[in-house]
Amino acid sequence: DADLGDVDPAIAAVLDAELRRQRSGLEMIASENVAPRSVLQAQGSVLTNKYAEGYPDRRYYGGCEHVDVAERLAIERAQTLFGATHVNVQPHSGAQANAAVLAAIAQPGDVLLGQELSHGGHLTHGMRANFSGRLYDARSYGVDRTSYRLDMDQVRERALAERPRVLVAGWSAYPRHLDYAAFRAIADEVGAVLWADMAHVAGLVATGLHPDPVPYADVVTTTTHKTLGGPRGGLILCGAEWARTVDSAIFPGQQGGPLMHVIAAKATALLLAGRPEFRERQQRVLRGAEIVAERLSAPDVAAAGISVLTGGTDVHLVLLDLRDADLSGLDAERRLGDLGITTNRNVVPFDPRPASVASGLRLGTPALAARGFGDAAFAELADVVAQALLGAAGPDSLRARIDRLVAEHPLYAGEPARP
Ligand code: PLP
Repeated sequence: DADLGDVDPAIAAVLDAELRRQRSGLEMIASENVAPRSVLQAQGSVLTNKYAEGYPDRRYYGGCEHVDVAERLAIERAQTLFGATHVNVQPHSGAQANAAVLAAIAQPGDVLLGQELSHGGHLTHGMRANFSGRLYDARSYGVDRTSYRLDMDQVRERALAERPRVLVAGWSAYPRHLDYAAFRAIADEVGAVLWADMAHVAGLVATGLHPDPVPYADVVTTTTHKTLGGPRGGLILCGAEWARTVDSAIFPGQQGGPLMHVIAAKATALLLAGRPEFRERQQRVLRGAEIVAERLSAPDVAAAGISVLTGGTDVHLVLLDLRDADLSGLDAERRLGDLGITTNRNVVPFDPRPASVASGLRLGTPALAARGFGDAAFAELADVVAQALLGAAGPDSLRARIDRLVAEHPLYAGEPARP
């Protein structure tokens, strides 16, 4: 069989260029990470050829004896890592896991109460144009106007007013811990099913560095590619009472054949996430975010009207508030992007700018921790980010500092040209 480079030089060039981009820049998109080579190998494998509709030992196709082993390993490892009774490892993505969960626990038209999108919620938690906002009667709770944190008394008031069938605890852009026990109490009080979406924090939860939603929520979803550091995909965790409904919501409800190559890669990522090195890396993720938040709270930054939302972070990301700055989120994203630091603009709560421009910038540390960043490297990078946003240093001197950080933290070092 011919090599990709011979069959399709155009796509091979894309792969090479993307690897060069990842190697030569610094990734601060909070939802991204670096999948280890072992995960890439499992995913880029012959398992991609296999149809396996159904579940282990209950397939609608022959020849599933080997992929059954992979799926069972993925399930058992997720059960052990998260202490979950039942796990479905088949969702193709986080959004599909969420669609299946809603199909399992609610009927179209039921009231869904989730975190407001512009206050850090996710599209699948009730955004109007998303399936979740079209199929369900989506309402939202937001953060407090002065602290920018969720005030659980306010969440409770919203829940008492809206009487949701489903209460959602989870976010895409919120820098603080969630109080899952308080969410549980509210769900019990209003008779709602509690669904926690821990997509962003799963790697932190797995290592005991973040409050654990599993003991509190009826159903938990996650992606496998954010802090968890695995292949792109989703997982659903639940108790025995929801197991059958959740499984049939995924297959045949939402999906046909599971992506067995991705499930194998999920199994490998879940194995790695149970190791001490992974916990040490997650500690650096958190330390890095604290260091970035600290530098970007310094007086020189504050003087330019730039602040850290909520004054700091408990997690792997920092949200900058640029409402009082000359720079918009889009400007900031571009300015850092020109230097090779990839970030994303984000609306902040009560944002006067449209989402396409936004007044926030989301900065994450997981991919840098995966490259080996420690305190000193995060401090150096945080200063580069501050100087760039302030326009206080020329791009050449900043690019030289970034180049040094890149050289000191090689990506897929010592591995084949295309890992
Ligand atoms: N849930 C949350 C909280 C997310 O932040 C995301 C992705 O950003 C998703 C779900 C969706 O995951 P995916 O992009 O795999 O569909």
